[in-house]
Parts: sequence; C-alpha cells; structure tokens
Amino acid sequence: MPELPEVETVRLGLAKHVVGRRIAEVEVRHPRAIRRHLPGPDHFGAVLRGRRILDVARRGKYLWLPLDSGDAIVGHLGMSGQLLLQPAENADETHLRVRITFDDDGPQLRFVDQRTFGGLAVSEGGAVLPFEIAHIARDPMDPEFSDAGFVAAIRRKRTEVKRALLDQTLISGVGNIYADEALWRAMLHGARPTDRLTRPAAHRLLGHVRDVLGEALKVGGTSFDALYVDVNGQSGYFERGLNVYGREGLPCKRCGAPIRREAFMNRSSFSCPRCQPRPRVPRR
Ligand SMILES: [Zn+2]
Repeated sequence: MPELPEVETVRLGLAKHVVGRRIAEVEVRHPRAIRRHLPGPDHFGAVLRGRRILDVARRGKYLWLPLDSGDAIVGHLGMSGQLLLQPAENADETHLRVRITFDDDGPQLRFVDQRTFGGLAVSEGGAVLPFEIAHIARDPMDPEFSDAGFVAAIRRKRTEVKRALLDQTLISGVGNIYADEALWRAMLHGARPTDRLTRPAAHRLLGHVRDVLGEALKVGGTSFDALYVDVNGQSGYFERGLNVYGREGLPCKRCGAPIRREAFMNRSSFSCPRCQPRPRVPRR
C-alpha cells in the first residue's frame, strides 16, 4: 500500500509531466474507479474536458490537481492504484480504469488499479483545498504542520500511540510500515497510552516519524526519474533500510533480540520485545 513517500514521489512525477496541459478527452473504463464522483462518468468527463491542469498538490495520501475552472481532480491510490504517464501508442494496461488524453502530443495520464480501492473524483470548487479532504491533518513534512499542536493533541487523546499515528485527523501520511519504523526508533510499543506520553517523548516520536518519512522520500525521490510514474514498481526501498517492519524473528538491529509480530487491526505490527516492551497495564 503506498504511503506518504510513495504518494509524494508520484506527485513530483505528475507535476513534471501534467502541469500546464489541457485535457482533451476522458475515458472512464470502469465506473468503480470514479464511484466517489456521485454525478457519474458522463459528468466526470464533461467537467474535465477542455480544462487545464494548474498544479499537483497533496494532503496526506490524497492528491489533487487544481484546474483552471476552480475545480480539482482528487485522487487516492488505495491499495494498488497507479497514475501512469504513457505514450498513446502503448498498449492498455489490464487494469486500466481511467484514461485522460491531452490536446498535445504528450503522454496520456492513466489510472490503473487492480483492486480498485483507489479512485478519482472531481471536487467542485476544490482547487485550493477539496472539501472532501479538508478534515485530513497536514503531514509532518508539510512546512505548515504544527509540532506543538500535534504534541498537545496526541497527549489529549485517550488511545494507543500507534492508533494515534494512523489517525488521519491528527497527523496524515503515516501508514503501518512507517509507524512501526518510527516506534522502533523511539523505543515505544504501539500500545502505549498516548495520554501518558510526556511532552518530550511525544516530540521525540514526532522527530522519528519525520526522519523515517524523510529518508524514505529521499530514496523514493532519487529512484524516480522516468516518464513512467509507478508507485508499485519502485518498492525496492521498502525492504532496504527497514529496521523492524517485515523482520519477524530476525535480530533487532539495536539489541539482537528476535523481532516479534503481533496482530493489529487486521494487519501486523512489528517491534522489538526488548527495546519496545509492552505497556504493563493494558488500557480497558
Ligand atoms: Zn531491540
């Protein structure tokens, strides 16, 4: 599942190749891919045709493309979505869902999604910030993210620290993998109650979250330069440089204890049993 560094890499790639171009034609090949666009596929095409893309913006894992009409295309990649730039002569992908053609000779923008959990929609008047995603908090790489605000908010919450990191209204862009990595660096178990974190501990944790995302972004950013914008094709750095995620039974890189895997919200959490002891008194 693409996390913030992957989505940011896609944003940078798209910005390079679609900004300033005018949409000529829109083909919706699978209605599920635009299910969040309630007026339907015909309307989706009609409001996009002839519009120029002004920018590519991101909030958390959502992308939006402001248009010269004041509307915006809002996109989420879901589990397996890809936004690809492909020359017109290239064969259609098996899971091609939406094709956007421009009024120039440049490549098409194709939304490809095998599992179709992701999708596109047009947000009316959403060029500055689509209302559909206005509830999502800024991510820690955003220059306007407030560290003090985050620290105060997480300490007010009566929840567990990993759940808080995944709460998009508190902090966005942190998925399962990078949450585990940041918690390992902070030497905190994900089940630690947030209201018992000290202010310095919460600041430290935020620093680790930012470091983990920043490092992943650097690797994702350097491996991307092709015309082909592919979030799944460049997952090499997922395995490289991960300290705990997916390393069940392997020695902790800090203390040597075997990494443990625990069930967490239909997924898995990875942590070091020695560096990240479970909180002694489980809540509730
Ligand atoms: Zn350890």
